[in-house]
Amino acid sequence: MRSVLVSTILVAIVAVAGLAIPASTSRLTVVMDFKGPWSPPAAREMQKESARILSPAGLSIDWKMRGEAISGGADANFVVMTFHGSCQFDSEPPVYDELGPYASIRETNGEVQPFGDVDCTRVVSSARYAMSGSDFDRQNYLVGRALGRVVAHELVHMVTRSEDHAHGGVQKAALSGRELIGAPLPLELAEVSQIRRALAAAQFQK
Ligand SMILES: [Zn+2]
Repeated sequence: MRSVLVSTILVAIVAVAGLAIPASTSRLTVVMDFKGPWSPPAAREMQKESARILSPAGLSIDWKMRGEAISGGADANFVVMTFHGSCQFDSEPPVYDELGPYASIRETNGEVQPFGDVDCTRVVSSARYAMSGSDFDRQNYLVGRALGRVVAHELVHMVTRSEDHAHGGVQKAALSGRELIGAPLPLELAEVSQIRRALAAAQFQK
């Protein structure tokens, strides 16, 4: 009985270690289209936070501004993320009475398309009203972290072509302001596996 237990634990450790070190990395280009004001420090942190969340699943991101050439040309795997409203810290953003989406993906005939829309004003509002004390010393850094979590969430929908949500982690159906700016919010292991399978099936460029 004991040996069974030990081997089960070993298998679990090997499985987790295997997930922590991706066998291969697939590249995805994300084209950013900012429709309103945005903060370069927040955008930098957004990119870092998305990378932190997605790299355990073997996905690395090349970020481009709209209009920039995409390396790899027409063969490249790319998605377009459009940012609406103001993507920078605001000390008095609108207060929303109702919960609403931070972002959405576009669908055609039930198929998830490589286009996402982020409601920056809503993300900034949630982040702002979750801040307290020393958070205000790094307000755009935290806005960037919040945006990075929202973007990573939408990229998972696009890569897996699924609108499913997880019970925990960044792929939950709803995230509070505190979850957007607080302690690390990684993918759950089930989502990591799902992304790996999707990447392998799609034969993303290595
Ligand atoms: Zn979602």
